[in-house]
Amino acid sequence: MIAKERVAAFLITHGPRRFCDECLARALGIDPSTAYRAAVKTGRAGTHIREYGVCSDCGESRLVTRASR
Ligand SMILES: [Zn+2]
Repeated sequence: MIAKERVAAFLITHGPRRFCDECLARALGIDPSTAYRAAVKTGRAGTHIREYGVCSDCGESRLVTRASR
């Protein structure tokens, strides 16, 4: 499974929680830059939303990604 699909599936499984790119990378065991690119792609696909908010994992206020429903 490619990184984008793994990120998308992870966020749907953990919805409505939201995760920053670093926490996505750690949870999935992938490179942070790979997680960033995958999260941007899921945001563009319309199934997920990229926004500024509090990460459900690390608690930092930063750009996070979540499933759109
Ligand atoms: Zn985080």
